[in-house]
Amino acid sequence: MSKKQKKMLARIIAAVVLLLVLRWVPAQGALGAALYMIPYAVIGWDILLKAGKGILNRQVFDENFLMAVATVGAIALGDYQEGTAVMLFYQIGELFQSYAVGRSRRSISALMDIRPDYANIEQDGALTRVDPDEVEVGSIIVVQPGEKVPIDGVVVEGSASLNTSALTGESLPREVSAGGEVISGCIDMSGVLRIRTSRAFGESTVSKILDLVENSSSKKSRSENFISRFARVYTPAVCFGALALAVLPPLAMLLMGRAPMWGEWVYRALTFLVISCPCALVISIPLSFFAGIGGASSAGVLVKGSNYLEALAQAKTVVFDKTGTLTCGSFEVVGVHHNELEQEKVLEYAALAESYSSHPISRSLRAAHGREIDASRVSDVREVSGGGVTATVDGVHIAVGNDKLMRELGVSFIPCSQPGTIVHVAIDGAYAGHILISDVVKPTSREAVEQLRKNGVTKTVMLTGDARSAAEHVAAQVGVDEVRAELLPDDKVAQVEALLVQKKPGEKLVFVGDGINDAPVLSRADIGVAMGALGSDAAIEAADVVLMDDDPLKLVKAIRIARKCMRIVYENIVFAIGVKLVCLLLGALGLANMWAAIFADVGVMVIAVLNAIRALMVKKL
Ligand code: ADP
Ligand code: MG
Repeated sequence: MSKKQKKMLARIIAAVVLLLVLRWVPAQGALGAALYMIPYAVIGWDILLKAGKGILNRQVFDENFLMAVATVGAIALGDYQEGTAVMLFYQIGELFQSYAVGRSRRSISALMDIRPDYANIEQDGALTRVDPDEVEVGSIIVVQPGEKVPIDGVVVEGSASLNTSALTGESLPREVSAGGEVISGCIDMSGVLRIRTSRAFGESTVSKILDLVENSSSKKSRSENFISRFARVYTPAVCFGALALAVLPPLAMLLMGRAPMWGEWVYRALTFLVISCPCALVISIPLSFFAGIGGASSAGVLVKGSNYLEALAQAKTVVFDKTGTLTCGSFEVVGVHHNELEQEKVLEYAALAESYSSHPISRSLRAAHGREIDASRVSDVREVSGGGVTATVDGVHIAVGNDKLMRELGVSFIPCSQPGTIVHVAIDGAYAGHILISDVVKPTSREAVEQLRKNGVTKTVMLTGDARSAAEHVAAQVGVDEVRAELLPDDKVAQVEALLVQKKPGEKLVFVGDGINDAPVLSRADIGVAMGALGSDAAIEAADVVLMDDDPLKLVKAIRIARKCMRIVYENIVFAIGVKLVCLLLGALGLANMWAAIFADVGVMVIAVLNAIRALMVKKL
């Protein structure tokens, strides 16, 4: 409990004690009224103050105003006990609410407990703890077992197994040794690592993720906007409704020549006001989204705003990129065919030309080449997105890429009949053979496509820049409905736009990619999902939803989490508005008194808040 909450609790206890004492005091009339003003002031002074400030700031109609009018009105009618009690219960409700919000915020930050507090740097043989912000790029930091990796970097010495669960939601440890990249936010579980930092702290994965989660609540969903618009209209409406209830029936009675019963109708109007307080809605809807986003991030799914969570729940079309999304993106060289030069030489030229590319194909060629690459031999690198790479290596012009690139360069090539991805190599404009590489489908891709269907997705499409035969081979293995091959990044955007036109209103289209050369598509789709984004800034930036590891089943999980969260949001809206309407009606008819009203209000709020917190629990989904 915070200090403020403790103070409130003390005030509540004091007011309860005072009210109990007053029951035994036989004071009547003016003295009784004056005595009751003590607990009333103890419990309600801040509400009265806030209501007064609201009036001065011309923002009259809020909860404080409703409570102030209702309780002051009750006291004016001589119902001191009731006025005080209503204020008391209102404050109990507020306390509970602030406690619940604090709790869920804290549990989210605990889930997101990846912010490193310090970094160890070596100075004169001893380790010194410094603020991660002060560590310069290229410094050597030391991470010991049990510590968090504070900054992204490359291991220069030592090996360890890293726990990535805070980032990915999975408890699978990741082994690293000298030369391996490490990402901040992982926890070192075994050995001492000496790491050369490759980024500043502010640019590291941890900082990016924390920024993203902290800013997610600024992107409001339609439901949230609906609630704030609703409250803006609703509160003044009930105030005028209450005024009408207080004035019109007595006037009508007078006109009919009967007793007006002013007291009775004013009391009903005040009850009406107490009932109408929209706190449950106003608090529980944003809290549900907040909890949903928090729960998702604990499962390794980062959602950049409640609007995306809402959209994800309505996903009907899912479009996948192939390489790195449905397949592992770690190609293996199967063979080098039709080559004039010796195999080694072709591979070496290809690997050198590709030395600046971050495409999975390039990484695999470099791995197949296997030797240290001397980047000074390479110049004039040009990467043709969706085609390949051209570069000058040792003074000769090398082109590495697919059929499209060869056609573009006017090089005649020999097609390959075997399944797999073909990388042609041309040297100074002459064909030098092709490298056949093959990628494997991720073990969970097929299940993910199936599960998506079970979760209401009606259409799955795979887009790829790869050749048709390789694309169809993969499509058959994973079971997607449609496949489009040989697409340049721009063609992918056009395909997604065509699919966007085809779908029904209210349905959403998700594009899932790995963030390598598909940023334009990610931003064009209703929801762009980047997968396996650990360490890839471009993907984290371009996407609306980031899956921290590269398992396609995470997408299913993300949709389930979104659905659950939206269900909770709707439950809360219907429940809160429903109970309110019934109570308002009972109040207007004089069937509910102020006690019933305050219980209904606090009760609805407690239930709605507890319901909202359910959105945080996503582990079992
Ligand atoms: P996907 O749609 O499967 O993710 P991309 O759009 O990234 O594929 O690439 C499409 C095709 O372009 C690849 O299958 C490959 O033939 C070729 N390509 C792209 N980048 C490179 C590269 N760096 N080296 C060789 N070929 C490349
Ligand atoms: Mg790709």
